[in-house]
Amino acid sequence: MTADVSLKSIHQMFGSFQALDDINLEFGAGEFVVLLGPSGCGKSTLLFILGGFLTPTSGEVLIGGANMLQVAPKDRPTTTMFQDYALFPHMSLRDNVAFGLRMRGQNKGQRNIRADEMLDLVGLLDKAHHKPHELSGGQRQRVALARALAVDPEVLLLDEPLGALDLKLRRQMQEELKAIQRKVGTTFVHVTHDQEEAMAIADRIVVMNHGKVEDAGPPEDVYLRPKTLFSANFMGDLNTIPAGLANKGSEADRIICARPENIGHKGEINLGNAVLESSSFFGTYHRCHFRISGKGGQEYVAHLPVDDLPKLGEEVQLFASNAVALEHSS
Ligand code: ATP
Repeated sequence: MTADVSLKSIHQMFGSFQALDDINLEFGAGEFVVLLGPSGCGKSTLLFILGGFLTPTSGEVLIGGANMLQVAPKDRPTTTMFQDYALFPHMSLRDNVAFGLRMRGQNKGQRNIRADEMLDLVGLLDKAHHKPHELSGGQRQRVALARALAVDPEVLLLDEPLGALDLKLRRQMQEELKAIQRKVGTTFVHVTHDQEEAMAIADRIVVMNHGKVEDAGPPEDVYLRPKTLFSANFMGDLNTIPAGLANKGSEADRIICARPENIGHKGEINLGNAVLESSSFFGTYHRCHFRISGKGGQEYVAHLPVDDLPKLGEEVQLFASNAVALEHSS
């Protein structure tokens, strides 16, 4: 099942501290939404409000058009999957996955059929009779996902679900999570502070900072055409270009920026002559530090193709392309 989600003018106060400040968001049914931002920006608070574990100080939450504010967590069409999977150690994987259905009074035959379907979905049907301690971290994570999906929620809320996994497994699980979401079509709202993870899985990224939405859109838009300086910086490295070099207006509240992959031998903005001070090999590109020639010259970070690396100390003419003019964050 799947449903759209609407958050209207959500404010959350904890005493005198404002954790969420006028959040207005609409998620489409079947969308994979990622709430992204630094620690303390309010991501989990928003997720708890969606799940009904917290009633907002003001504002409305609608799921599938229905107002949720008076609806208890267990009666909402949502399931929450936490980082700590909390599988029952003494139960088999099948019984773990079927647990929510048992709580809903479904008979054993029916719930085992559904549990097996879900274990099959996450590639663990052959381990249905195993106990959680016999699994790897990634497998436990998959069981938790199967359990969350077994009750057929319209919206699945995921709070840093991959946070405990090592980097390689995390990247692998991101792909699996996305593939499973596509297959089931449930609306996913996933919290992370990892921008690479957000880019890997999201249909839409919501960048949050100090309880506000800084930016929201498909990964390409948020990365290539960020709305604010905070959002641009959070999504990846950024070079600041002196306003005088770029023909992009001179408003004092705007700052001209370009990503490292947009600094190189070609481009519409001539940055001047620069010396290559250092470089590191990253497999598909060289990450280079250039400094503009002359006293106090500005530094630029460029990602150059592997076959296009100047010698250390060599002077080259440096250009920037696809620069964007951004407002300072409030
Ligand atoms: P993290 O990535 O570290 O989990 P987050 O973006 O999910 O961070 P939240 O957990 O939503 O952040 O917290 C937002 C802010 O609200 C933080 O400053 C936090 O200390 C505060 N906060 C959260 N819950 C409470 C609470 N029950 N009482 C008081 N303050 C709270």
